[in-house]
Amino acid sequence: MQNPFQNAMLQLDKVAKLKKARDFGDEFFARLRQPDRDIRISIPIKMDNGSLKIFEGYRVEYNNALGPYKGGIRYHPDTEINEVKALAFWMALKCAVAGIEMGGGKGGITVDPKELSKRELEKLSRGWVQKLSDILGPHKDVPAPDVNTTPEIMDWMADEYEKITGDKTRATFTGKPLGKGGSEGRGPATGLGGFYVFNSLRTQLGLKEKCEIVIQGFGNVGLNAAKIFIENGHKILAISDSKGGVYDLNGLDLNKLIEYKKNNGSLSGFMGSKNVTNEELLEIKCDVLIPAAFENQITDKNADKIKAQVILELANGPLTPEADEILFNKGIQVIPDILANSGGVTVSYFEWEQNLKNENWSEKEVFDKLLPLMNDAAQKTLEKAKESNTHLRMGAFILALERIKTKI
Ligand code: NAD
Repeated sequence: MQNPFQNAMLQLDKVAKLKKARDFGDEFFARLRQPDRDIRISIPIKMDNGSLKIFEGYRVEYNNALGPYKGGIRYHPDTEINEVKALAFWMALKCAVAGIEMGGGKGGITVDPKELSKRELEKLSRGWVQKLSDILGPHKDVPAPDVNTTPEIMDWMADEYEKITGDKTRATFTGKPLGKGGSEGRGPATGLGGFYVFNSLRTQLGLKEKCEIVIQGFGNVGLNAAKIFIENGHKILAISDSKGGVYDLNGLDLNKLIEYKKNNGSLSGFMGSKNVTNEELLEIKCDVLIPAAFENQITDKNADKIKAQVILELANGPLTPEADEILFNKGIQVIPDILANSGGVTVSYFEWEQNLKNENWSEKEVFDKLLPLMNDAAQKTLEKAKESNTHLRMGAFILALERIKTKI
């Protein structure tokens, strides 16, 4: 299997072959094959037992044609530079699809945060900022949370940045806690944005009014999406975390699952419903399958077994390019990550704007601003896909590239 950056470049190769994209020119595509810069750092941390441990960290600034680099920071044992590059590339396109004036960046640390004490985690997070503060800033590069990074971590980082630079706007990091510069609505923003996109396209994709949904991932994105879909009358048939999932044809009771996970650390072993592996979960027959965990979950090995009518990619890069082709040929529509999960960065952008203007918007104001942007992005993506007789991912790429091209 290719690494995520190779997958991202295969997607770019594919769009470059479309008639609509040929006008962009080879030089434009050549430019987008490389990030503006990728930085690797080492972060030495004195552990609680007195030993010194060196962690590897990253920041990739991919493209800032539309505005300051913007993108989350991931803490995961498998995080490495190619993953961060891919995520940064997708961020550049995602901001363009959402119609916000931000460029694309991404960061990370190779670490399993569950193995660190809170004190070690705070030192590591502050260490990442100490090494990178020169390139960060409200008008340069604005990081945010991603997998395993929380509002508390963003608060430590914003605090460290303020200590080093004296900048009091707190606009250099988004996804901060409420009362510490965070925005109302940032927590559920990615799931909610995904729901708005789904709703905008639902009838055009031939989906019924009340859908049966399967979700991979029980973190910020997966869990919030599950809540929002249930609140809007849809049924969650199955959901999973890294240890496995649960499945119930009658629909899951989310509150019971949240309680179980709180007491047991994972969904694994939950007795009220059937237990399924993550592989089995992806193959359940449903109206909408929502990957909300990691890259490369649907590949040429399992794409043929997918029985969903539509896939809503709330994770970044959950499908390989080979899987895309197989699903397209099977008539399964994929609402691509750079559209489907763009609600998160959009509300991060709102947080940044509030910090700079010293304003606090209500949750209603935030959601009222999010909805038209998501509707517009969804409908323009569909339009572009139809114009080029291609699928939604290529439609979203064309939309993004057209917008970036005007500023490059
Ligand atoms: P998170 O750390 O809050 O949750 C990740 C979840 O995935 C956890 O429940 C974990 O148990 C589960 N998981 C891990 N490996 C799994 C596997 N193999 N199968 C099933 N579940 C597994 O992270 P998150 O913020 O919810 O991010 C999830 C995805 O959404 C990532 O791809 C991320 O890049 C993307 N995303 C997040 C945001 C955001 O605002 N947080 C925005 C856009 C995109």
